[in-house]
Amino acid sequence: MTLELGVVLDPALPPATMAALAQRAEEAGLDMVVTNPGDLDPWTTATWLLGSTKSIPIGVALAPVATPDPRDPEAGYPSVAGRARDSLDLLAGARLITDPSAWTLAPADPSPADLERAAAANLPVVVPASTEAEVDRLARLLIEHRGPRPTGPRRTSSVRAKRLPGIAYDEVPASLAETAVEPGDPAYRTVRSTYLRGGRPGLVLRPTTPPQVADALAFADRHRHLPLGIRSGGHGVSGRSTNNGGLVIDVGGMNTIEVLDTATRRVRIGPGATWKQVAAALDPYGWALGSGDYGGVGVGGLATAGGIGYLSRKHGLTIDHLVAVEMVLADGSIVRADREENPDLFWGVRGAGANLGVVTAFEFEVYEVAEVGSAQLTLVVPDIEEALLRFGEMAAEAPRDTTVFLVTGRPRPEGSVIQLYGLVDSPDPEVIVERLTPFASLGALVQQQVILAHYTDVMNQAHDIGPDGHHGHGEPHARSGLIPGLTSEFARDAAQLLRTGDVYFFQLRTMGGAIADVDPTATAFAHRNAAFQITAMGGGTEALDTAWSLVQPHLEGLYLSFETTRSPERVADAFPPATLTRLRELKQRFDPTNLFRDNFNIDLSEMNR
Ligand SMILES: Cc1cc2nc3c(=O)[nH]c(=O)nc-3n(C[C@H](O)[C@H](O)[C@H](O)COP(=O)(O)OP(=O)(O)OC[C@H]3O[C@@H](n4cnc5c(N)ncnc54)[C@H](O)[C@@H]3O)c2cc1C
Repeated sequence: MTLELGVVLDPALPPATMAALAQRAEEAGLDMVVTNPGDLDPWTTATWLLGSTKSIPIGVALAPVATPDPRDPEAGYPSVAGRARDSLDLLAGARLITDPSAWTLAPADPSPADLERAAAANLPVVVPASTEAEVDRLARLLIEHRGPRPTGPRRTSSVRAKRLPGIAYDEVPASLAETAVEPGDPAYRTVRSTYLRGGRPGLVLRPTTPPQVADALAFADRHRHLPLGIRSGGHGVSGRSTNNGGLVIDVGGMNTIEVLDTATRRVRIGPGATWKQVAAALDPYGWALGSGDYGGVGVGGLATAGGIGYLSRKHGLTIDHLVAVEMVLADGSIVRADREENPDLFWGVRGAGANLGVVTAFEFEVYEVAEVGSAQLTLVVPDIEEALLRFGEMAAEAPRDTTVFLVTGRPRPEGSVIQLYGLVDSPDPEVIVERLTPFASLGALVQQQVILAHYTDVMNQAHDIGPDGHHGHGEPHARSGLIPGLTSEFARDAAQLLRTGDVYFFQLRTMGGAIADVDPTATAFAHRNAAFQITAMGGGTEALDTAWSLVQPHLEGLYLSFETTRSPERVADAFPPATLTRLRELKQRFDPTNLFRDNFNIDLSEMNR
């Protein structure tokens, strides 16, 4: 048994003595200081002691503060007291313990037998002390009786006090123990949330090699009762790469980008790289690989789903340039999939990869891209219905080198503001101007920026994840669908949707071109004939659904990356019947017990219906 020993400070002590004894306990190597503040306010006393020390955990018994249920996905924000406690803990380097069941009391001047009895509870033992001599004596006792140090990183009592039930923290595989992050760790705030979602997972495992991913999956397999998030870049909308109270396997550290062969332009990319990093690595060769419209997005989530971006009309989806993957399956096996080896798996990974395993490396054959025209236009249009219709015609009829996306929101009394984000894959300024001029005539042009740039400059406009991680809040609400063409009926109903005021973000992504050159059965992304991908985001499900029902009759299929409902009906929208049947067969082969389930799930219980 490993003894952890600390002191309880007498409430009658003068404040300066209390701080001095806490410092002494810290210098002497004790594990904890508990304060019973007596007449003093416990918050203020804890703050004072935390400020007077550097590293020792400080325990103070506080009345429980209302904290949202960590397992409840709908849980709201913490109370004012909860926020105060969390802030103090953060500012003090995760050293505050407020739950009195996190320590056990031994009598003053304890014998070794007293200590052994108290330590049997496997909690830090605290002993009353009111002089430096008593603190020093406890420090000597600790040296004599501490026992063997546990292997792996030693977590203080304040960290362990924040552990959640149902997670075997002490059984984290040795290969992952050093880098795992749990709620009490200082790094927790950098890994708990994603770009769009706030989360409070119980444990984040951070493998950096395929065998470590296999270890993480084996651990997750023993925790089936908990949510399981798989995270690469943390920009998931439909995929849950954070959760409340569950596990996250974060492969963000697997982010290398390596050129394998300059003749075939073959590159190998880790799932944790962001698309802006990929663009920057390819730029010196004069190459690019189209991804989405935002360079901060991670490779892992996008390249297992599709990848509709600024270069898609000319070069196809991101997955259309994928030539091989390495992945870890639910049973821990490490496999390669390409056209020859595991071709079925390779088919499924290109559109439904999240259901089949964790991809640890992607191999793409990329293409040459010279300078491009990158445009951002802001226009005010008096009639959004007419503007949508005209945009639809222009965008669909534009040559393949031109891709323009439209974003708008709630109409204003003076008209609707529309933002157009476009790329013209041509280094010729005249061509760029010619291609963009029709779009600039959609309304009153209030702002414009058109630059000749490298593709990397376009991707570089996004923020990277950075060492501080993501800090999303709450739960996004998004609806998404595909339309075969932008008809006048669609424009009418989309305008009506916007007029409800319940959609703050509405986007049309232009598809067509090279996306449709690929046979719909060639990959698990089957909706090759869509002309536009549509996304609407709102503040809550009910109002959003009511607004969305206006455009629903026009939809034919779904690209899963922008949808937050994960019902079987939406899965069926994303995958036509023949694709879904094939995916269920793959799920049965590669993940029969549905380890990969917190995603746009291929549900085997539907298999025989
Ligand atoms: C601001 C923004 C802009 C976007 N723009 C575009 C766009 O233009 N075009 C487009 O196509 N999409 C776009 N997307 C959607 C984006 O492609 C998806 O949300 C994608 O899943 C994000 O990937 P990620 O690795 O960053 O996300 P994560 O949150 O890390 O992962 C999302 C999900 O993908 C799965 N996953 C992640 N890593 C792996 C892996 N290694 N192996 C298997 N499955 C994995 C998991 O189910 C996970 O829950 C955008 C999203 C955002 C937030």
